[in-house]
Amino acid sequence: MKKLLDDSAAIGEFRTHLLSWYRDHKRQTSWRDSSDPYHIWISEIMLQQTRVDQMGGYFERFITAFPTVEALAGASGDEVLKVWEGLGYYARARNLHKAAKRIAFELEGQIPNTYDGLIDLPGVGEYTAAAVSSIAFDCDHPVLDGNVIRVLCRHLRIEGDPRRAQIKAELIAAGEALLARGQAGDFNQAMMELGARICTPRKPLCETCPVGATCRARAELDDPTALPYKAPKKKKPHYQVAAGVISKGSQLLIAQRPAEGMLGGLWEFPGGKQEEGETLEECLVREIHEELGIEIETVARLTSVDHAFSHFSITLHAIAARYISGEPQTLGCADWKWIAPEELDEFALPRADRLIVEFLRRDGHQMQLFDGGVDRGK
Ligand code: SF4
Repeated sequence: MKKLLDDSAAIGEFRTHLLSWYRDHKRQTSWRDSSDPYHIWISEIMLQQTRVDQMGGYFERFITAFPTVEALAGASGDEVLKVWEGLGYYARARNLHKAAKRIAFELEGQIPNTYDGLIDLPGVGEYTAAAVSSIAFDCDHPVLDGNVIRVLCRHLRIEGDPRRAQIKAELIAAGEALLARGQAGDFNQAMMELGARICTPRKPLCETCPVGATCRARAELDDPTALPYKAPKKKKPHYQVAAGVISKGSQLLIAQRPAEGMLGGLWEFPGGKQEEGETLEECLVREIHEELGIEIETVARLTSVDHAFSHFSITLHAIAARYISGEPQTLGCADWKWIAPEELDEFALPRADRLIVEFLRRDGHQMQLFDGGVDRGK
């Protein structure tokens, strides 16, 4: 029994308290000060997998580089990935770029102003369509992101798995019932902000919660964090990966990952996953032969970097190597280049590869390219 939803006066109070708290406590951000649909769309794509407090600088950097949807549409894929570098989940940047082209070339530069028009764009799902249509165009669509789902499950004491269709339908109905129509943009942002700052995953601040008076989890449970339902965690696999810092004369070899798939379109020190029974050095020689069709010999292990992705983690081992023979080919990569070490900053690299670059440049580990190899330095 969801008591709040049966009581229109209580629903009215819920909206009033929530909106008033949001007006007084919302964090100032440059995208919240903007009513430009382009800014709102970019910020909501960034917020799909990045928290507000982790976005510092990225939004401004992106808008400075691509101030209009036409500017974004006219940029190259490499330019977009370079500006996105560090934010992760690079499919977001690739889809933004595709969507910008469609808006600029097929929709006369107009960002769709309805939920249905938005959800038709690459990279826009239910959450983003609801957020952008409500915040930019005042459409009455409730947002259901992780923060809002947590607030609703606790507040209404919804105990089932939110990923199940029946529970999801219940959450959508609850979101529709609570939505402050005519103020959907502020209401949705207030719900997301409440989940991010008050009704947090581990330590909800029930004593100061603006909607605490009608919350069932607070009134009925010893521990509100028992909701929402959490599926038992599966152990993530961990892989050992070799990455070659391969030199030929004064140049280094970098390879571009295939456009689709994880880290698609980014440049990296080429290499791959270690197989059972092989050393990291053997792994690197094999991977470089399979990926680029060239022969190398390893010189020295340089450093190791740990990195976690959503479904697995890796230890990336950087290994200095010399080019021996063969013309690189795009057997397992989209492109390759021999570059001077100082040119590395011109390419969008995954975070783990960027850490290797930082290691190579640190005091005591200066990169010393010599004919046919990289020396670890002193
Ligand atoms: Fe969340 Fe506590 Fe507020 Fe309920 S009272 S919505 S559990 S912070």
